[in-house]
Formats: sequence, structure tokens, C-alpha cells
Amino acid sequence: MERHTVIANWKMHGNQAEGVALARGVRRLLGNRFPAVEVVLAPPFTSLETVRRAIKGSRLHLSAQNLHWQPQGAFTGEVGADMLRDAGCSHVIVGHSERRRLFGETNGDVGRKLAAALDASLKPVLCIGETLRERRDGRTRQTLSAQLSGALKGVSKSVKDCLILAYEPVWAIGTGTNAAPAQVMETHGWIRQALVRRFGAAQARHIPILYGGSVNPANASELAAVPEVDGVLVGGASLDHRSFVEIVNAFSGREA
Ligand code: PEP
Repeated sequence: MERHTVIANWKMHGNQAEGVALARGVRRLLGNRFPAVEVVLAPPFTSLETVRRAIKGSRLHLSAQNLHWQPQGAFTGEVGADMLRDAGCSHVIVGHSERRRLFGETNGDVGRKLAAALDASLKPVLCIGETLRERRDGRTRQTLSAQLSGALKGVSKSVKDCLILAYEPVWAIGTGTNAAPAQVMETHGWIRQALVRRFGAAQARHIPILYGGSVNPANASELAAVPEVDGVLVGGASLDHRSFVEIVNAFSGREA
């Protein structure tokens, strides 16, 4: 895999003016530097359009943070995949642990969302990860395995260049404690093998596996040095354009 991917998940932060300022800051600092890194911004729904305009003509990509699996209908408060394409999104985050934990999304829901995204030619960023309790109980692989099967069950067509995986241990998200590089290497290696079993080696090697969980400018370089890490999904640190671009920089120097 030649490229790395760094994604900013702004979660439920910022009004439109703040989103535009942040996007412009990233655009300005990034310029044409670090061309080997694919950089994606995921603002809240309400800022998609203004951020789309702010990054137009740049190398930045636009992502939504969630979608519904139905294209349209009586689903108050939901947004479908075609609507997101129409709003300029190329990517969509699916199965984030906050969606699973706070909004009750099941592995089945995540699978339906992922299929809807692929059907609409949106690139899903599939998030999987274990809780602290699951890790302590030695159930990390069991959890990840169930999340992968639930999400990928209905996926039959080629996923080469259409899918991004994000390993996000729940205990590392927003806690200030990132997973240790050795833990990340071990888990990413296991995920890669699970993808090989599911899709075959030729396709599996084209699925980037990102790490997410308290990534910041201070720990980005050591995570970027882990051979199995193809990029990162960044929450808190992506709300500051300088911190975010420093993280992008950390991923610019390594050929995977
Ligand atoms: C996330 O929301 O996906 C995330 C990784 O958050 P943070 O970087 O703040 O831990």
C-alpha cells in the first residue's frame, strides 16, 4: 500500500463558521505537502456543505460521520447514502463506537450501513474495537471477529480500494491513553489475517487498516512507525488544525 490515510473526526463540534475556519486552516498548512497521505475531514452534517466549499479544488476529501441504510423514506432525523454523495462526501464513517455504545447500533445495523455506503460508491470507514473489559477478559479477537462478520457479511463485490478499516479500541478513544504500538501491531496483524481469510490476499492488502484512539502530535510518529498501521482516525486532536497537520506529517515519511 503506497498511501496512508489520516481522517479528522470532528464529532459534534463546531458551527459552520468554525468548521470553515478549521478546514481552511488545514488546507493552508497542508498545501501541496505530504502528497503520499490521503487526508479526509468528517464534519457534522450541518457543516458538510460549507466545508465542501472551503476545500473545493484542494486534495482534501469530505466524509460524513454516519448514514442510514435506507436511501429515503419516513426515517425522521436520518440521512441516506445518496444524500451524502449529493452533499459532496466521498467517505462515511460506519460503526463508530460512540454510535454503537450511545445509540445502540448493532453489528447488523453496521452491516446494513456499510452495504448502503458501498452501493452508493461512498467509501466506508468501518470502525471496530474492543472495550477494556473485553480486552482484560481476553475477548478482543472474539469481539473484533463478530464486528467484522456483522459488517462484512453482505459484502460480495470487490472491496479493493472501496473500504477502509479503523481499529479503535474503545478504551483508547477520548481518554488520552493510546494503545501501545506493540498492541496495535499485534491487533492490526490479526485484522489483516482476518481480511485475507475473508477476501483473499490480493484484495485484503488493498484495505487500509487505520488506528484510532487518542492520537496526537506527540504519539503520532511512534504509531506511524508501526508497519501494520496504514494511517489514523483522529478525534480530539483534529479540532486544532496545527495538531492535525502535524499528525499528517508524521505519516508522510513512511512507505508501507
Ligand atoms: C475517534 O473519535 O474516532 C477518536 C479516535 O477520538 P480521539 O482521537 O479523541 O480518541
